[in-house]
Amino acid sequence: MDILIVEDEPEIAKLIQLTLEREGFTCQVCRDGLTALQAFQSQQPDVILLDLMLPGLDGLEVCARIRQKPGAKDPYILMLTAKGEEIDRIIGLSTGADDYLVKPFSPTELVARVRALLRRSLRHGGQSLVYRTSHFTVDVDQHTASRHLESGELEVLDLTTLEFNLLATFISQPGRVWSRTQLIDKLWGDDFFGDERVVDTHVARLRKKIELDSSNPTFVKTVIGVGYKFEDSTNS
Ligand code: CA
Repeated sequence: MDILIVEDEPEIAKLIQLTLEREGFTCQVCRDGLTALQAFQSQQPDVILLDLMLPGLDGLEVCARIRQKPGAKDPYILMLTAKGEEIDRIIGLSTGADDYLVKPFSPTELVARVRALLRRSLRHGGQSLVYRTSHFTVDVDQHTASRHLESGELEVLDLTTLEFNLLATFISQPGRVWSRTQLIDKLWGDDFFGDERVVDTHVARLRKKIELDSSNPTFVKTVIGVGYKFEDSTNS
């Protein structure tokens, strides 16, 4: 399934479903948070449209639970919110949502936003793209990232899609200093809007997986006042 729609208002849910199905997406609709979690686990959607105010488990809670156990696909989550609902909390993005849309939104806007989420892939025209440094190999086409162990063996890193794209971006240009805005452009595309602190959240998660000591990183370094850069020698 492409898209899981979680929306308790039947008319809005129907409108979203029709709009997206017309664009060729496969959709499933859930009306409450618990059902949404079950559908997420069994269906592995690529994108979840998640209404904020839901009966039972609200959207923020559903989002948090999915991020705790993202599964193989680690879906993109687009929060749907009415004007005046807790937008500040969503754009703080401590929730783990990737983007949000304020109701009422037009079908065109919805489709554009969903497509932007699905475009966030770093594939380059089918050519094989593999980056190697002393400690890492990232194969963009195979979507695999591994760490080189002392023994000479490769340890495959268990990264979410976003973490993978972030590492691939860094490793594509070692030593380059990236601002948060540039990383957002690269990972989310132009139509991202929200809070750029989302970058820090994903960098922190990536560090936990690739650094020996994530509080004292040697690969993904903070450049104070600017953003981040990746450093690793390339002569392995
Ligand atoms: Ca609602």
